Amino acid sequence: MDSPSIQSQIEIDYEHIWHPYSAMHSDSPVYHVDSTSGVMLHLSDGRQLIDGMSSWWCAIHGYNHPKINQVAEAQLQRMAHVMFGGLTHAPAIKLAEKLVTLTPDALQSVFFSDSGSVAVEVAMKMAIQYWNAKGEPGKQRFATLRNGYHGDTLGAMSVCDPVTGMHSLFNSVLSQQYFVDRPSSRFGESCDPCELDSLEQVLRQNHRQIAALILEPIVQGAGGMYFYSADYLQRARELCDRYHVLLIADEIATGFGRSGKLFACEHAAITPDIMCIGKALTGGYLSLAATLATSEVSTSIDRGDPGVFMHGPTFMANPLGCAVALASIELLLESDWQARIARIQQRLEEFLAPCAQMPQVAEVRCLGAIGVVEMKRAVDMTSITRQFVEAGVWVRPFGRLVYLMPAYVITDDELSRLCRAVVEVVARQAD
Ligand SMILES: *Cc1c(COP(=O)(O)O)cnc(C)c1O
Repeated sequence: MDSPSIQSQIEIDYEHIWHPYSAMHSDSPVYHVDSTSGVMLHLSDGRQLIDGMSSWWCAIHGYNHPKINQVAEAQLQRMAHVMFGGLTHAPAIKLAEKLVTLTPDALQSVFFSDSGSVAVEVAMKMAIQYWNAKGEPGKQRFATLRNGYHGDTLGAMSVCDPVTGMHSLFNSVLSQQYFVDRPSSRFGESCDPCELDSLEQVLRQNHRQIAALILEPIVQGAGGMYFYSADYLQRARELCDRYHVLLIADEIATGFGRSGKLFACEHAAITPDIMCIGKALTGGYLSLAATLATSEVSTSIDRGDPGVFMHGPTFMANPLGCAVALASIELLLESDWQARIARIQQRLEEFLAPCAQMPQVAEVRCLGAIGVVEMKRAVDMTSITRQFVEAGVWVRPFGRLVYLMPAYVITDDELSRLCRAVVEVVARQAD
């Protein structure tokens, strides 16, 4: 069958396909991608864009990587998928072993799932089953930070920021959770102990109902691209211990080097009870996520009622995904990733600095391979995206945030061209 022309494909897309957070019949254009390689998106109309988004934090080695391609093809010849109930396989075993080695020592038990949101659901259910097994069935609620983002399924949504997550719309279906203000001290600063007052008060008053505190360590991503004090995270860990509340670290965005450490928890040298990973896990190839728990959590769940953990996705531990994830992690560890990311941070700081002087810009901040230009006013996403495409780059801002999180393999020259486009386009926005 001949494939329809690009123009008619786009019409079919318009008629029948939803895009993320979009209207079905949206006036915003979607750009038709033909292929990808390295840090480039090749559009079907022949234009080439330098990708500043890594496909939402994922494609850390760039696209179409020969080593990952080769591993995927070899695994495909052997076995694309097999159910995980009662069966097991080398890709899952090797990946689990690797994850257990790389994450904080106490995290010894791995649950594979198919997306970040599901990994968060799994973490929340683990916390509830843990406390049930410990004779505290009343602990079924969660504490979390405002401006957080943890995914789009109902459980995950309940711990997303209530304003940006439109909780009012889903009012009666979302569990009511406990929100505390995000830390005001920034990354690199020590935090004033009074910043923990609101968290402490929530925990003191409600710890009998609270199973866990869930947060994004150090980097709040989709909820505001905000980098906060490691000191806060350390003290939050202490408060969780004091009030018998588990700590769930959502490392789905930060995992695998993005913030400059392999996992952002390392900035504060803390161990969460439960950790969620996803996004960059497969280097942007396939949808795979994992929830890791301490042996204390997993063995307690085993001893409780019903003696099993109540979750089991159809595509659990998909062999293709696991093999690709292992290849991606090996590539990362073989590279000089720390030096590379430190260099990307330096370059982002240098190249984005001109934005800081502009009247339409509130702040420029960088951490690891993340560069953020916070505008004073929300940008017009359709118009600014078009301007970026015309400038030869792929950048997709939201709200007041124009941000970059490039692949770690991006060269200085590509990064300079990417940032130059950001400086030019930002300068053109209304102040
Ligand atoms: C993206 C993200 C999620 C959700 O992951 P999906 O794979 O989109 O379901 C959860 N938490 C954080 C911190 C994320 O950045």
